[in-house]
Amino acid sequence: MNSIKAIRGMNDILPSAVGAWQSIERQMRTLLASFGYEEIRPPIVERTELFRRSIGEITDIVEKEMYTFDDRNGDSLSLRPECTASIARAAIQSGLLRTPGQRVWAMGPMFRHERPQKGRYRQFHQLDVEILGIADASAEAELIVMSRRLWRMLGIDDPVLEVNSLGDRTIQKRYRKELVEYFSSRSAELDDDCRRRLQTNPLRILDSKNPAMQPLIEAAPRIVDRLDPAALGHFERLEAMLGEAGVEYRINPRLVRGLDYYTGTVFEWTTDALGAQSAVCGGGRYDDLIADIGGSASPAIGFAIGLERLVALLELSGVEPSIPVPHAYLAGIGEAGERSAHAVAERLRDAISDLRLIVDAESASLKAKLKRANRSGARFAFLLGEEEIRDGALTVRDLRKDTPQSSISLEGISALIAAADAAPTPALPDH
Ligand code: AMP
Repeated sequence: MNSIKAIRGMNDILPSAVGAWQSIERQMRTLLASFGYEEIRPPIVERTELFRRSIGEITDIVEKEMYTFDDRNGDSLSLRPECTASIARAAIQSGLLRTPGQRVWAMGPMFRHERPQKGRYRQFHQLDVEILGIADASAEAELIVMSRRLWRMLGIDDPVLEVNSLGDRTIQKRYRKELVEYFSSRSAELDDDCRRRLQTNPLRILDSKNPAMQPLIEAAPRIVDRLDPAALGHFERLEAMLGEAGVEYRINPRLVRGLDYYTGTVFEWTTDALGAQSAVCGGGRYDDLIADIGGSASPAIGFAIGLERLVALLELSGVEPSIPVPHAYLAGIGEAGERSAHAVAERLRDAISDLRLIVDAESASLKAKLKRANRSGARFAFLLGEEEIRDGALTVRDLRKDTPQSSISLEGISALIAAADAAPTPALPDH
């Protein structure tokens, strides 16, 4: 029979890789808590309408990339392609917005039917961080310094920060008109994709990666030059805060991002270490989104970090995630030992908090059991036979040192584990 494979672009994260993920997730949680952010867990499936109204009808995500289906009631649902809209919806629905200054985060899988390649998948994971109800540029500055702190905490080289301001909807409307006039007057020079974008979403022409389009784009009017005094003041306040905090950044007037809900500040952290998929983190202000999906108007800002790309960066930086090895592998020897193994393991677990203990699960010779103990990566093998049961002890072998085995009472095991935890674990011997 054919074996069933995972869906293209949707990857298993195997036990050998999961340590790096857990290490990143753990550090993220610590950092977020230290900045006063709380976790929120919206569902993975939402009404398609939510994404249409927030991300925008005429965006690559909504037009081409969503996993959309009718459920058994005939309602159109979609797997979330990103999380901001879900968080905004949840905040409206639950009344979270009644208290301004909500700092929340969510982590989990997102789904986009894109062409899979290195760093670009159909199921990928994001950490999504949002500040709801704060209009001041201080919210932007907070998210930016927090992300910079995360790069440093993880031990990866700072990616490059690019910022831009898209102004409010009135400014965007005026600018869009100006852009359409400019590109229409040069339409013969546009490639097919840009010509299509000219009709649908002209701002996205600025995003084109086609080298032939670059001179035309370089010469296009820039939205930063079209900001009104309020938008300009906001942007300058952000620049002052970033300057004070020693954050290096580059203003990229062509940074527009692929989602329609952004107004005002947008930013991206990019790296040249990952090839074509250079964006590690992207975000911005979306002061109209909450009203657009039916809430009472509330300013908001957020960013999303792509975890796959962060894991790849961590690998490149050579930082080894610290994955705790099991303390011990407990093997019952003979029928009586095998029968009592779980009972003894439970006593040890009761006595020693955070004990990492694997119990051998199949009858075999002592030699085979020791081989399994070695393969488990555990520090110690605990052997339990009739004699040990009678003595209330375990025969202990240090699998990382060439020392003779010894008999240790069940009470004495706590001290053994505490001593092992206090010292660095010796490397596995070559077998
Ligand atoms: P976006 O929601 O498009 O602003 O993306 C935010 C971040 O998510 C990006 O900077 C990437 O790190 C990551 N990301 C977006 N799309 C994908 C994808 N298809 N595969 C892997 N990571 C992605």
